[in-house]
Amino acid sequence: MVDFDHDLRAIVGDKTAKALASALDLHTVGDLMRHYPRRYVQRGELTELSSLREDEHVTVVAMVRSVSKRSMRQRRGSILEVVVTDGTGELTLTFFNQAWRERELLPERIGMFAGKVGTYRGKRQLAHPDYELFPEHVTSFRQAAEEYADEIIPVYPASEKLPSWRIAKCVDVVLQQLGDLPDPVPEQVRRKHRLPGLAEALHAVHRPRSIELARTAQRRLRFEEAFVLQAELARRRLSTAALPATRRAAVPGGALEALDERLPFELTEGQRRLGEEIAAELDTPHPMHRLLQGEVGAGKTVVALRAMLAVVDSGGQAALLAPTEVLAQQHYRSLTNLLGPLAQRGMLGGSDVGTRVALVTGSMPAAARREALLDIGVGDAGIVVGTHALLEERVQFFDLGLVVVDEQHRFGVEQRSALAAKSRDGTRPHVLVMTATPIPRTVAMTVFGDLEISTLADVPGGRAEVSTHVVPVDEKPHFLDRAWQRVREEAEAGHRVYVVCPRIGDEQEDPGGADDDRRRPVAVLELAEMLRTGPLAGIETEVLHGRLSPEAKDAAMARFTQGTAPVLVATTVVEVGIDVPTASMMVIMDADRFGVSQLHQLRGRIGRGEIPGVCLLVTEAPAGSPARQRLDAVAATRNGFELSRVDLEQRREGDVLGAAQSGKRSSLKMLKVIRDEDVIRQAREDATAVVAGDRDLAEHPALLRAVEAVVAEQEADYLDKA
Ligand code: ADP
Ligand code: MG
Repeated sequence: MVDFDHDLRAIVGDKTAKALASALDLHTVGDLMRHYPRRYVQRGELTELSSLREDEHVTVVAMVRSVSKRSMRQRRGSILEVVVTDGTGELTLTFFNQAWRERELLPERIGMFAGKVGTYRGKRQLAHPDYELFPEHVTSFRQAAEEYADEIIPVYPASEKLPSWRIAKCVDVVLQQLGDLPDPVPEQVRRKHRLPGLAEALHAVHRPRSIELARTAQRRLRFEEAFVLQAELARRRLSTAALPATRRAAVPGGALEALDERLPFELTEGQRRLGEEIAAELDTPHPMHRLLQGEVGAGKTVVALRAMLAVVDSGGQAALLAPTEVLAQQHYRSLTNLLGPLAQRGMLGGSDVGTRVALVTGSMPAAARREALLDIGVGDAGIVVGTHALLEERVQFFDLGLVVVDEQHRFGVEQRSALAAKSRDGTRPHVLVMTATPIPRTVAMTVFGDLEISTLADVPGGRAEVSTHVVPVDEKPHFLDRAWQRVREEAEAGHRVYVVCPRIGDEQEDPGGADDDRRRPVAVLELAEMLRTGPLAGIETEVLHGRLSPEAKDAAMARFTQGTAPVLVATTVVEVGIDVPTASMMVIMDADRFGVSQLHQLRGRIGRGEIPGVCLLVTEAPAGSPARQRLDAVAATRNGFELSRVDLEQRREGDVLGAAQSGKRSSLKMLKVIRDEDVIRQAREDATAVVAGDRDLAEHPALLRAVEAVVAEQEADYLDKA
């Protein structure tokens, strides 16, 4: 009998084990058992080649007739074309850049081929089909039919060195020796959902006696993945909740009250409700851990500021962590603006309630920095705004009570905890994470599962419309001329215009980069020069990108904000948080090079005041292409939640989960975060209950091991990236 830790070498032999290790990174029995079939092929599913219909997913049994290889005309690389036949008709299989398949798809070989039927030049074809060749002794269709009459054949993710059928053989050997396995999903949870045990599920997923049994096994394995992850997240939430924190509450006649009196607008219903929720949580002896998500322009900053002032009122300090210098500068300015005299305590003209705001960035002059650090250390600065420079060891707070992290997607858990470690007397600061990238609930539950989630749904009234248009330069080149004309008109009307490019265009840029033959994307420096000397002659144009010095960035932003230079040609440094209410237009060059949520973020920079906005997505992507469909989706809606769904559907799961779950050996193999919302919700409920009754998982050793494996895997990923 073998268990999951068993080395594969002892079971399948050195040579095969070596192949499994090098080709698929599988080393132990557990690794192999968790290498699930991608699909199953059943006899009943077979289709005759004469009756193929376009867009259908089919599996056919056929014999290789001929193989040819040619190189592509438009792009680098080769195409392998394999013609197969089943006696009723012919079908072409195409493989891009996989010439090695020529060595196994030899004429006369019989196999099963599966994929989606397409048409190319009037002929039916399968592009990149999954396939499974029968062993060489099978030389006729009748033989094939007899040998595989009732079987359901698993098709594994395979590689050149290790075809699916060889993996299947190894799996068979292991399954025969597999003993009873400790199951991470407790029995009462399994019973509740009628899920088979682990050993049974593994047998059924690898060697199903029926497709129904395979599906049941998959359902169980999917649940297990969600359950183990949610158990870990539940543990984190519980241990955070058990940590000591200092209670923070606003005081009558204090800074928070004074701010509310001087705010130039009414708080929205959502801002008020969330404010109360946060205030109540700050006033408990355990740290708050909350994710605040809200559309671009929803007014998260003032919610955060009000929380910070409650902390200031109680004698503590609050830190606001921003992902970029530009954003830190801007937060610093907008907080001091909102605070007015409340930010000048102890200074001439300052209020006697209130505090001081300090700014700490990586590049500030040494003297200013020393002064800021001193203010922070003695507690004179109640609010500290900064970039990751705040995480450095020499930044010592007098009494850090609240950490606000803006735009979470740029900060990892590790950075959050680095700041959390800066509080006094072993207490933990409260943490508020803000994000403008709306996250579907399932992803939030998975990625940010250790945070409670609040959503700011309404955007303050009086927001202007923004209309978005795709500008296809290939089809309608004169549209771009019209666009520049419009930019000129907006600038002359006293508005501001962003022009966003994917690239900076200086000599430091990586000349390689692009792995295909596409044109290099439009660059900030080149386009700015073209505009200055061409369509925008006579209009002041500023440039902004990540390689400018902080002073230069600041100066450029100031000239743009004030209107000295009404046009800003920039990279995505303007993506998050920049708030210029007079901005009315944005032109995004090579828009197809950006992701959906990035475009949404960028577009959020305009229409922030009363002036209606127009956003142009300039692209060469042909109509109907996936890239163009993405742009059409962005043009069709400003609803961030809808767009983040579009985005997620187009990306791979690993990317969705980001640093948390992107390892090549991710624990999420079966689970699809978008599709499996119900599974995740159910697993979260059950896992939370189990962990609540057995915090150390002492009574659930198998679950503890599985949880530890997930944690180890995340840490390994983190180290890989560091
Ligand atoms: P985001 O949620 O994208 O960070 P901000 O906090 O930057 O949004 O707010 C965007 C703009 O809306 C700011 O200029 C802010 O002063 C303004 N704002 C915030 N709350 C309100 C409100 N209740 N009524 C009117 N304007 C508001
Ligand atoms: Mg913001």
